[in-house]
Amino acid sequence: MPEGDTLARTADGLRPHLVGRRVLNARARGGAQVGRLVGSRVDEVESAGKNLLMRFSNGLELRTHMRMHGSWHRYRPGERWRRPVARAVVTLEVEGAVAVCFDAPVVELFDAHAEAIHPALAGLGPDLLAPAFDQDEAIRRLRDPARATTTIGEALLDQRALAGIGNVWRCEVLFLERVDPFRPVRDVDDATLGRLVSTARRRLLASAGRSVGGAPTPVGGARSTTGRLWVYSRAGRPCRRCGTILRSMRLGREQPRLLTWCPACQGVGTQEGRGTVGMAAGAGSG
Ligand SMILES: [Zn+2]
Repeated sequence: MPEGDTLARTADGLRPHLVGRRVLNARARGGAQVGRLVGSRVDEVESAGKNLLMRFSNGLELRTHMRMHGSWHRYRPGERWRRPVARAVVTLEVEGAVAVCFDAPVVELFDAHAEAIHPALAGLGPDLLAPAFDQDEAIRRLRDPARATTTIGEALLDQRALAGIGNVWRCEVLFLERVDPFRPVRDVDDATLGRLVSTARRRLLASAGRSVGGAPTPVGGARSTTGRLWVYSRAGRPCRRCGTILRSMRLGREQPRLLTWCPACQGVGTQEGRGTVGMAAGAGSG
């Protein structure tokens, strides 16, 4: 699942090859009329949460959303693609480069002026990867009364509160800050909420390579978000910190995602049958 950091790396990797260049050819599967981009210049490539946005000199904007399996690759003209042509949903050719989007379920072309009222973009919370990230606004949105009884584990994935966190960083950040994922947002104090948000931002920036000068990294086959992780996808294995067996369950009403946590480090009680503490094997260092 691409998260904000993956999308930021993708934008950084595509930008030098696309921005300022004319579109020579454009194809899309499905309804998007990307042929309208031919002859225009690529003005901007950027990520917004888990969206990749490209803006063009003729006023059009292309949005792709990667969901679970989408990705953008960049090739030299004539270079062999690493995925089957049949899986390409958008192909953009400019001088010296071909950008191909594979498997993205959302491809849209619209007037860039409409971005402010675009249902999927206008409602996005502050972007954790944006240089001008507004932490107060993110916390204000997390504190929205509509989310009071939502678990913090679900709220962190709500892109309308803050944009960029996916399942990997949701699990990791809750572990790092020792927060019970099942706690309702209203029971999470301000200091803890602030720590969750700033840790998420720091991790995403580091993963996107932004904390080291924003050097672009290759697109496609880019290193995954999952270098060495504390809890994500490690259910059933011992906590790297305390040795307790990590647990997991699907959490979320709209899109249930597999949450993984350490019952001991995150203080998850045994009520409601979750977080039954497995073999607590020795005390690790923090
Ligand atoms: Zn632990």
